[in-house]
Amino acid sequence: MDEFLREVQCLFEAPLQPANLHALSGKLQQQFRQKLQSSNICMLPSYNHTLPTGHERGTYLALDVGGSTFRVALVELGGKERGNQGMQITRMRSFRIDNAERALKGHAFFDWMADRIQDTLAEEDYQLSHGTSALPMGLAWSFPVEQTSIRSGKLLAMGKGFCATHGVAGQDLGSLIMHACRRKNLNVRMDAIVNDSSATLLSQAYNDPSTRLALILGTGTNAAIHLPVSVLGNSKFGNRPQSWYEKADHVIVNTELSMFGKNILPTTRWDDYLNITHMNPDFQPLEHLIGGRYLGEIVRLILLEAIQTAGLFGGEVPEQFINPYTLDTGTIAAIESDTNNSLSQSSTILQKLHPLRTPPSRSDMLFVRKVCQLVSHRAAAYLATGAHALYSLRTAAEGLKPKDVGHVTIACNGTVIEKYPEFRPLCQQYLDDLTELSGAPRSSVVLEMTFESAIYGAAVAVCCLEDQ
Ligand code: BGC
Ligand code: MG
Repeated sequence: MDEFLREVQCLFEAPLQPANLHALSGKLQQQFRQKLQSSNICMLPSYNHTLPTGHERGTYLALDVGGSTFRVALVELGGKERGNQGMQITRMRSFRIDNAERALKGHAFFDWMADRIQDTLAEEDYQLSHGTSALPMGLAWSFPVEQTSIRSGKLLAMGKGFCATHGVAGQDLGSLIMHACRRKNLNVRMDAIVNDSSATLLSQAYNDPSTRLALILGTGTNAAIHLPVSVLGNSKFGNRPQSWYEKADHVIVNTELSMFGKNILPTTRWDDYLNITHMNPDFQPLEHLIGGRYLGEIVRLILLEAIQTAGLFGGEVPEQFINPYTLDTGTIAAIESDTNNSLSQSSTILQKLHPLRTPPSRSDMLFVRKVCQLVSHRAAAYLATGAHALYSLRTAAEGLKPKDVGHVTIACNGTVIEKYPEFRPLCQQYLDDLTELSGAPRSSVVLEMTFESAIYGAAVAVCCLEDQ
């Protein structure tokens, strides 16, 4: 077992030397530059070209379609001078998205959304209190969308196991939702569509003017960045019919960071196996290495080989353990947070999920915990590398030297970066090393958690628009 563990450790840790990560960041920047010129699936401009001032006010309906929940909320923006009261959710309903909803095809999915909006508004008795004008609505969409205006965009391949694009791929997302709402006579109006990464940037920027980037690490991963319009190729704006383009100097770009890193980020045989057996191989190389959907699966693949070849668990494969995706990231997070010497807590968790005839020994559990750490630490390092690459891209695009950039906030959201033990501090450490290597002061680029950022950001996207 020791020898096997040494091999895993070497494969996972060797690429994480700061100088090596810095070199990887450089290669990612080249890939970003190519895709900024020509790609209609990543580096997608959002049409949000002004950052909020924090003085915008109003009441909005915010929708957040994520990988496992759909949330509908009424949001009141009252101005950042009101501190915690400046952004408030006055009502929110959360609906689980299970396999049944993920399997809904085309219009059926959007009808399901409209039903849930109706449920939420009916409780609120919204029309009684707000009269007849349509309620302005903002949507945070945790999938790629090729925007054609602030309130419209072509539906692109969704990932995360969703079938909603079936038969309607390439159609306008705003219209699909609005048609479903009209069929139910809902008095709402789609005013803004933003990716959840852009929403996170907008939400943090409402309170913190130093925000220029956002990172998501939950089930999936992504980043948004505020960039000069001049770095985007012509094809990115269609035929540029929008008058805003003439006056815009910057725009928020949904990078779809998950899609980068192919042939750049080193992978192991377990990553390669995960990729070739994936329903969408090579679609999101970075996400396969760091996304919450995959961290548990990478650990499972390593443990399975260790059971079969190195005597882990006395060579016994738990009955369900051979099935893909039967070890989730929540479980490996729980194992990693068991710092008790006996490791009895995490052993119980594992026994419940994947019972063995003979419960795992302490040395088995030490092995398991170490593997979890190796996988999650690499994820923190690669996320930091992606963030650094974007920071460097922006620095160059602004014509600045790293030492002159000053303080930059990266807004963060997602269950892994928020809840996985020690993940964000570790990611910050890697980022600090990289920042310093580029010649900027250590800790000048800071990862800040932004809570409820998809919901708030969807509302801020609408109010920024009203302000223009
Ligand atoms: C999607 C992105 C999304 C990210 C985080 C990725 O899989 O492609 O659009 O922002 O997950 O939710
Ligand atoms: Mg989300």
